[in-house]
Amino acid sequence: MTTHDIIKAAFPNANDEICSFILWARTPYPFGVITAKSLFSAARRFKRASDNNIQLCDLCDRIAENNKTVCAKCHKALTT
Ligand SMILES: [Zn+2]
Repeated sequence: MTTHDIIKAAFPNANDEICSFILWARTPYPFGVITAKSLFSAARRFKRASDNNIQLCDLCDRIAENNKTVCAKCHKALTT
């Protein structure tokens, strides 16, 4: 079973680009350990957010409001 198989179990319509995005941008890979369960959870969270037009923070995975790519907490940390 590949990483893409695990992601597609949670996000059946994910193409290769989305699978790579989830692996590289929504998990600690390649700097941290990921498990099949954590990869599945990341894919499911990303799919749920996408289905509901919710933008997740690129840095911490919280909800980024007002169509921003980072959440308020990360925005504050980056700008102060
Ligand atoms: Zn954040």
